[in-house]
Amino acid sequence: MIKHHLTDDLLMGYATGTLPEAVNLAVATHISMCDECRAALDAYNAMGGSVVNGCEAVAMSSGSLNAALASIRTSQLETPSQSARVSDPVLPAPLIDYVGGGIDAVKWTPVGMGVKQAILPTSRAATARLLYIPSGVDVPDHGHRGIELTLVLQGAFRDEDDVFARGDIEIATEADEHTPVAEMGEDCICLAVTDAPLKFRGLLPRIAQPFLRI
Ligand code: ZN
Ligand code: ZN
Repeated sequence: MIKHHLTDDLLMGYATGTLPEAVNLAVATHISMCDECRAALDAYNAMGGSVVNGCEAVAMSSGSLNAALASIRTSQLETPSQSARVSDPVLPAPLIDYVGGGIDAVKWTPVGMGVKQAILPTSRAATARLLYIPSGVDVPDHGHRGIELTLVLQGAFRDEDDVFARGDIEIATEADEHTPVAEMGEDCICLAVTDAPLKFRGLLPRIAQPFLRI
């Protein structure tokens, strides 16, 4: 039962293809888990389609439709989706494509306190990483210089009064200073996307920051 959803801005950005790759990935992953946001996205896509339909027709050279169809067919052949072959209890299909397999294929790097991370290969306009937080451990105290999306894939975390469980997405902005803590019980695995470096308060995290790229 998902309680924390995407904003209209993010859905619209996704529908119009204007988001950085890493943000797109977080949106696509949430949508793959959430019927409500998938329905909202369909509505935006239908709206976009009706705008295109309302435009005046432009003459196209003969054969351009066939060329377009052929290029769609080739690009589908050239990029066989991992998700078509692998399914995973933790990673939804969009993430399986980036990791190149299921949760066991993730190459974790320890970052202290038992926390581990794995940066996913996206364009550098924003950073996407998987975070592994042992139950009861908190993410270092930090503010933001940009937007931060945190999507829960396993376990849960608490931030102030809110609990975020599998499928929930937390959207923190410039104004938010917060300390997410993994709930007791299961270790927490999240997808975290940041569009600018976080500014950590403590000295050690600040020294480590350039190395961790967070
Ligand atoms: Zn949703
Ligand atoms: Zn944060």
